Amino acid sequence: MTVLDVPGGHLIRFFHGEEIVSGLVAFAKSANLTAAWVQALGALSRAEIGYYDPEARKYERLAIEEDVEVTGLIGNLSLVEQEPFAHLHVTLGRRDFSTLGGHLFRGEAGATVEVLLLAFAGAKLERARDEEIGLNLWALPRSFSPPEA
Ligand code: ZN
Repeated sequence: MTVLDVPGGHLIRFFHGEEIVSGLVAFAKSANLTAAWVQALGALSRAEIGYYDPEARKYERLAIEEDVEVTGLIGNLSLVEQEPFAHLHVTLGRRDFSTLGGHLFRGEAGATVEVLLLAFAGAKLERARDEEIGLNLWALPRSFSPPEA
């Protein structure tokens, strides 16, 4: 991967064959990112996506072994037990122009993947286990209740 530092964050290019989820986590760690937003586009040559079944409280997984367009990738970088964690969702375009989408577990770059990493300097976005839901969810420090209408 190659990186251009820009005001407020980083632009990252992934090369063919590089795995983007672990790559983003490794970059977050090296750059000490503790809160960031992620957007990307490009192509993957293989991927694994998931659908979270709230009843079973686990992901159904789908392995994709074909070249697909990343028509949209959105997510964020946070901390789970002080370690960087990437939560990413993708929409993937197939050769027949149909799409697949879900939670991204892993994806190997095809021709390229172009990423905007918007870093929130000084902020610490932490996740904590929500036992009821079965996932590590945002643990934000402040409550807000909309006023009664
Ligand atoms: Zn997800």
